[in-house]
Amino acid sequence: MLNKGLTEDDLFSFLSSRKKEDIDHRYILSSMCTLPHPVAVMAHCMFMETNLGDPGLFPGTASLERLLIERFGTLFHHREAGGYATSGGTESNIQALRLAKALRHATCPNVVVPESAHFSFKKACDILGLEMRTAPLGPDHRMSADAAAELVDKNTICMVGVAGTTEYGMVDPIADLAKIACQHDLFLHVDAAFGGMVIPFLERPVPFDFALPGVTTIAVDPHKMGMSTIPAGCLLTRETDMLDALNIDTPYLTVKKEYTLAGTRPGAPVAGALAVLDYFGVEGMKAIVAGCMKNTGRLIAGMGALGILPAAIPDVNVATFICEKAPSPWKVSWTRNGHLRIVCMPHVTRDRIEAFLNDFGDMHA
Ligand code: PLP
Repeated sequence: MLNKGLTEDDLFSFLSSRKKEDIDHRYILSSMCTLPHPVAVMAHCMFMETNLGDPGLFPGTASLERLLIERFGTLFHHREAGGYATSGGTESNIQALRLAKALRHATCPNVVVPESAHFSFKKACDILGLEMRTAPLGPDHRMSADAAAELVDKNTICMVGVAGTTEYGMVDPIADLAKIACQHDLFLHVDAAFGGMVIPFLERPVPFDFALPGVTTIAVDPHKMGMSTIPAGCLLTRETDMLDALNIDTPYLTVKKEYTLAGTRPGAPVAGALAVLDYFGVEGMKAIVAGCMKNTGRLIAGMGALGILPAAIPDVNVATFICEKAPSPWKVSWTRNGHLRIVCMPHVTRDRIEAFLNDFGDMHA
């Protein structure tokens, strides 16, 4: 700690000098986060001091959280869904498995996840003492439902499907997984952290949500395609009060029980997330998603014209390519199989894609 405090001028010139070291968003092609929409920023600033960990002190903010869950419940074909706002996909996935463990008793509990599952499931299994069984993918980069079914036994407390995989942007065959879940009375968690704000707005949405009877819980992240401020995630449950199974006593708060993972929880990104949803509505989100999908198609076609093949034909706006190099200063990422990966987020506009393709072409010339 500094012995003597800084002046406001010195403090903010120091902070802005450090901020300048961050990568300019115009060159970020690797992230599943994006620039928050201005309405999210405004709403976030309005609710800066609110703490949903003690909701009795912030009943107005708490009502926004309930509204956010209701909006997602409706979008996911189940208005009565329960749930709460998390810090993102990692917390939602941890809490989904924690819930499965609380509701399904097993001596040596295991979970069946696809090979493509986000690494947050490793953290969840580690924390919760669960065996993680990994189901292989088919040649289309989607989880093989048959292989998943073979891994299920009497100690399986949860099966996981991903709707919009982190690396290849694929949607697992959730309808097949849901059938298996119904047959075996399994808890099925759908990780739609990315795809939950894309798939419902596609021209031909693939089934992945509560419309499928076997789906128990869904993770969705407003701080990804929802253009909210960070950190904003949501965990949705089919039954309204399902999360009560995780309740612990909280004697000194305005509420006497709590099922969330975090104690103190920011209301600001919840307001930000709701602001974006209500500002755009379904029609506005369809336009945003259509733009991102169009840009994904243009990127794949443009790379094709340069002789670079896609590694997969994605269901959502994540493009991957069989190639080994990308031009600087662009920030791209690489999948575990060594494929170039670009996420066509809302800040990755058509002109940014053309600029990248130009630089890529120059690099290969
Ligand atoms: N699930 C999926 C499918 C993701 O793509 C991600 C992150 O990219 C996560 C979970 C983890 O989300 P977060 O980083 O918000 O915790």
